[in-house]
Amino acid sequence: MKKLLKQYEADFMQNKGQGCLTAKTVYTYSKGKPVCFCAPHAVHSFVHKQERSRDIGTGAIVQYLGKQQTFSTIVRNKFVPCKEMISDFILTKKVSASFFLDIHGMRAHKDFDLAIGTGYFSKKKYNAILTQTKKLCRKYKIRYRVNLPQYMGKIGLTGRLQKTTGKANVLQLEFAPEFRDITGQIIQDKTIPFLIELGESIKRKEHVKTTA
Ligand SMILES: [Zn+2]
Repeated sequence: MKKLLKQYEADFMQNKGQGCLTAKTVYTYSKGKPVCFCAPHAVHSFVHKQERSRDIGTGAIVQYLGKQQTFSTIVRNKFVPCKEMISDFILTKKVSASFFLDIHGMRAHKDFDLAIGTGYFSKKKYNAILTQTKKLCRKYKIRYRVNLPQYMGKIGLTGRLQKTTGKANVLQLEFAPEFRDITGQIIQDKTIPFLIELGESIKRKEHVKTTA
């Protein structure tokens, strides 16, 4: 797995994190599966008229889930000095997925590894998927927080999709740096197995069953 992750991440690391500048499109979409993993910050993006640093490792994680597992993916593969939002891409390309997992990187925190954000919608509305996510966090010993103000996901893909479609079918997951380190062990032992199980459980609609 380490070799593949290194290989995938190399594409996003090029040009000092601006990615593959000769790519035809800003986003690469691999379609056809019901659950779609997204890495909108795999390379640098343009926010408030400034170049914003990428979420290291998120591109490699999502590529792995698309190429080695059975999930759809959308990754940003090049920097452009204008707003090119992934939500617009999804809406104009009419991406059909039953659920989107919006993968990001947060800074390190002492007491948690993963920030889960339900965007504009309440925890109650996400009860089923949250129950499943928390169960898997306990299994993989991932310390999580839900809806911390700075990691709720209102600004970005999760919030924008919710506002446009009115559906609670997108969840933001922000991982701490060591959970995205492609040279480390945590990404192989925790981050990726956790995401595979979460994605598979959504496919099997276990998050729906848990709402009783
Ligand atoms: Zn991000």
